[in-house]
Amino acid sequence: MSENVGSDGFLEEALKRIGEAISNSLKREAEKPTFGVYRPSLISACILRQWFIYKKGLAISEEKAGIFKIGELFHNFLENALKTSQIEVLAVEVPIQILLPLQPAPLWINGKADALIRVKGEGEKYVAEFKSIRRLPEQPLRHHVEQLHFYLAALNCQAGFIIYLEKSALRHSVFPVKFEQAVFNALIDRAQRLHKALIDNEKPEPDAQSWECRFCEFKNECKKEAGQAHDRKPCRHCFAKVVAD
Ligand code: SF4
Repeated sequence: MSENVGSDGFLEEALKRIGEAISNSLKREAEKPTFGVYRPSLISACILRQWFIYKKGLAISEEKAGIFKIGELFHNFLENALKTSQIEVLAVEVPIQILLPLQPAPLWINGKADALIRVKGEGEKYVAEFKSIRRLPEQPLRHHVEQLHFYLAALNCQAGFIIYLEKSALRHSVFPVKFEQAVFNALIDRAQRLHKALIDNEKPEPDAQSWECRFCEFKNECKKEAGQAHDRKPCRHCFAKVVAD
């Protein structure tokens, strides 16, 4: 064994290289949002947050890239689990596009469904959406159900499944979701409101669910906006933050 192995210099170099390797594997091409092209996974989010995302372009930090990477690892695990069962995986990462030919600019909803599946020997196809999560929910989360609706509509499926996998113990829950026209119509309406607000360059009123603000990249900008807007129509989440600070 070389006398240098295990010396502080070698250890430091190895430590640096390991850190670089992990950081590099987490680097993602930041997907710059384009006006007129919206994402099924975002449309349920606070409409003001989405407006900021499109106006400013969202850079994905390494911490967030890590969250995406964990999601990818779980997806691979679930895909392989289904492939070795009585479930036939017809396609994975299935691209979808929905076009609304609006004036003055068309609106596209582009995304990828995790998997298209069917029980072996049966004809009915389903969309499967995989979600890694800290704690298994008792009901499917609303924004996940809504995201799934875009895939169901685009892939002409009457129903799908949201499959949750708990990060710490790999416990799972599977929820069937039936397509509901009213849910889909409300989502399309929401996408159109966002589209119009971006075209007109007018900030929409925030409509976050109670947990969203904690994870929002635009807390500071929004806090200022909310502070200015209190007399008009306060956003209860941002308002709470303003008074708390
Ligand atoms: S801080 Fe909350 S209300 Fe404000 S933009 Fe973000 S999610 Fe929306």
